[in-house]
Amino acid sequence: MSTDPSAAFRTLPSDHPVPAGERDAILANPGFGQHFTDHMAAIDWTVDQGWHDARVQAYGPLTLSPASAVLHYGQEIFEGLKAFRHADGSVWSFRPDANGARLQRSARRLALPELPVDLFVESIRQLVRADAAWVPSGGESSLYLRPFMIANEDFLGVRPAQRVAYYVIASPAGAYFKGGIKPVSIWLSRDYARAGRGGTGAAKCGGNYAASLLPQKQAYDNGCAQVLFLDAESGRHVEELGGMNVFLVGRDGRVATPELSGSILEGITRASVIQLLRDRGHEVVERRIDIAEWIDGVRSGEIAEVFACGTAASISPIGVLKGHDFSVGSADAGAGEVTMAIRKDLTDIQYGRAPDRHGWLTRLTA
Ligand SMILES: *Cc1c(COP(=O)(O)O)cnc(C)c1O
Repeated sequence: MSTDPSAAFRTLPSDHPVPAGERDAILANPGFGQHFTDHMAAIDWTVDQGWHDARVQAYGPLTLSPASAVLHYGQEIFEGLKAFRHADGSVWSFRPDANGARLQRSARRLALPELPVDLFVESIRQLVRADAAWVPSGGESSLYLRPFMIANEDFLGVRPAQRVAYYVIASPAGAYFKGGIKPVSIWLSRDYARAGRGGTGAAKCGGNYAASLLPQKQAYDNGCAQVLFLDAESGRHVEELGGMNVFLVGRDGRVATPELSGSILEGITRASVIQLLRDRGHEVVERRIDIAEWIDGVRSGEIAEVFACGTAASISPIGVLKGHDFSVGSADAGAGEVTMAIRKDLTDIQYGRAPDRHGWLTRLTA
């Protein structure tokens, strides 16, 4: 494939785009992950040809053989990032090169081929250009981008697929918190782990999410929005939520977040939040955090704020932590000061309301 990634893509425009009026109605109230744009990006890979046939084509169903490996052995990885419309109409993404690098790390773990990072970023750019009218403006809306890669070989033998497909689809997203930011309650899972030593916890793969759905259901049944997982080995150390990393803010302003243990997903929001906290003068430590430290700290007031972070919700205050035999925190306490300040710092950069002092934004539209 050509060394200039933009030259590699051909565009096959959709012959059935959503009419403008219908699209505007969707953009006025997009929800999350329900509506999809007119196009998708696609690149194929085979052992013999490597990456080839990069294109933007009409969004639509994939045709897979029932023997396609992904349907049987779950050889699949994905990414999640957003495109933000700025006040002048331009569209930008946040650290897409970091998502591209992470997709490569996930690919290595799942024995999938690594997509070059420049091709990854170009796939995002080409799709957003084709569907620029789908990027909402106003509030905390965005266009959510979902790149993913699947084993697509019709073969039931157990080995890495020799044929793979990469796609990017896009879905307009409204503000995660409608009607103001409210602390969420989370459920401490003692019955299930998300990942183990040497497993796939650090890779962004569908299988991790499949394994989190039952504990997630338990969380719902107990009035909680999300699950908190502990490490599988000792059952004591805080790891992360099903799809978000966590931070504890001490009364003294010091901040702690679980260290990258090999079974935690390395969030790009996490890395950005660490930087933004340090910019504000907070000491941030990545270390092991015992669950008892969290529970006792919230009870004693030693821990003043707890929050979770990830691309979808950006930063979400945690009000209550609950388990089978305990509950700490308060659902009515409101969001903490540090939590809200960091949330503002992050979203101001993403929406172009503050200078991009770390060079995190990539312009997608011309
Ligand atoms: C994607 C993900 C996150 C958050 O990563 P961001 O890059 O900040 O969106 C955290 N935990 C898990 C398990 C994830 O899959």
